[in-house]
Amino acid sequence: MRLVALAAIAVVLIVIIAAIVVNCSKPASSTASQSAAAANDTASSAAAEIAAPAESAEAADASETSAETPAAEANTASAQIPVVDAEPGDVSYTVAQAAKLKYRDADFAVNPARTDWNYDTPNGHKTIYLTLDDGPSANTERVLDILDQYNCKATFFVTGQNPDYFPWIKEAYDRGHTIGLHSYSHDYESCYSSTEGFWNEFDEIGQVVKDQIGYVPCFIRFPGGASNTISADYSQGIMTELANQAHERGYQYYDWSLSCGDGSVHTADELVYYGCEPTDEENVIYLAHDGSAKETTAEALPAIIEYYQSQGYTFEAIDRSTMVFQHDIAN
Ligand SMILES: [Zn+2]
Repeated sequence: MRLVALAAIAVVLIVIIAAIVVNCSKPASSTASQSAAAANDTASSAAAEIAAPAESAEAADASETSAETPAAEANTASAQIPVVDAEPGDVSYTVAQAAKLKYRDADFAVNPARTDWNYDTPNGHKTIYLTLDDGPSANTERVLDILDQYNCKATFFVTGQNPDYFPWIKEAYDRGHTIGLHSYSHDYESCYSSTEGFWNEFDEIGQVVKDQIGYVPCFIRFPGGASNTISADYSQGIMTELANQAHERGYQYYDWSLSCGDGSVHTADELVYYGCEPTDEENVIYLAHDGSAKETTAEALPAIIEYYQSQGYTFEAIDRSTMVFQHDIAN
């Protein structure tokens, strides 16, 4: 028995060392972006006024790179999560998932020095990156319980529209999900009238998230997606500017390749019908919402999850190794 135990420990150590070697040899990402037919989440526009101007971008950046928190101290390139080429169920895959959770504080913090994004390489197995926009809200608890029930991880692009539910940001994070930013108010005029206004919105929701989980995450989603056609009504050309500035500030934006269609009002049955779409994509970024008006999404979610699991997909949370999927910008 002792020999078996020693052998098992040796295998795990070899896997970890191999993972570190693989990660160190990972090539820098290209700048190619992907296009997609864009379904905008324009219906998710319940707006609230910004309560107060957020701290300046410079101040936000400085706080992220200072040593004021343990997460910030460890926020270096050496804290990158190992990338393991393995299938769900393999020992090395399990080790990699555990490492993701252990190091994500340092790894997922916004950091302008990090440019190691993956623009072109799927992760090697069928994966749905379910993204839930516009929460937290009264629906978030139910969504989290469903995700637990089906052993799914997801990514929550949060807003500040429902302050009473901010503690659910921490709850989602503690249950192993990824937190991303989606503006404070989700008000298109506030977000897209000027770049300064946009970054005030993201500084503000970034601070909300930092209060909950200890750091400002690097993952963002534009209200309406990068392909939204609304921003041009407020400031022509702003999406190109914002996309460039996002990268300069250490953020990465993710759009989506599939959606259940809950940007518009639908019954749960309709969402299951629209949302269970056959796909041959190995990695899918999937759009759904957990905003306050999205009860039918929570109702439809189990059937949608069961469908994709039956097709061999695993539900995982976005991390820095996740292949970036971006729509063509519509200015
Ligand atoms: Zn939204």
